[in-house]
Amino acid sequence: MDVCSKGHPWTPENTIVRSDGSRRCRLCNRDYERAYRKEHQSDAPYRDKEYKANRTRVVRDSPPYCALCGLFVDKALSGKTRYGPSVDHIIPLSHGGTHALSNLVLVHAVCNSRKQNKQSSKSSRRSTRMW
Ligand SMILES: [Zn+2]
Ligand SMILES: [Zn+2]
Repeated sequence: MDVCSKGHPWTPENTIVRSDGSRRCRLCNRDYERAYRKEHQSDAPYRDKEYKANRTRVVRDSPPYCALCGLFVDKALSGKTRYGPSVDHIIPLSHGGTHALSNLVLVHAVCNSRKQNKQSSKSSRRSTRMW
């Protein structure tokens, strides 16, 4: 049977014909939309006003030690540098965590991104298995 690149059959009800005559798989289209929405949602909380305010307070008021590796954090550095101050959620937002001060800790920017890489590779592995 004629199938799309993801293996969905090109049935008439599964085929979106665009104005230029090319066809698009409705099931794939739905997957893209869902992935886009998910990405969008997980991004939005970081622009939250509460998060911005609490993030500043955590960096200012916490003892200068990284919650992930335990080493000294130089608060004078920019958060964009590897060992500059960054803020991590103890309970990740994806697990129902909030931007409350009690859920935020001071970490190195590099430790935070290392942790995030680990999480995202885990979740992408999970989604490949699902598909
Ligand atoms: Zn498809
Ligand atoms: Zn660290």
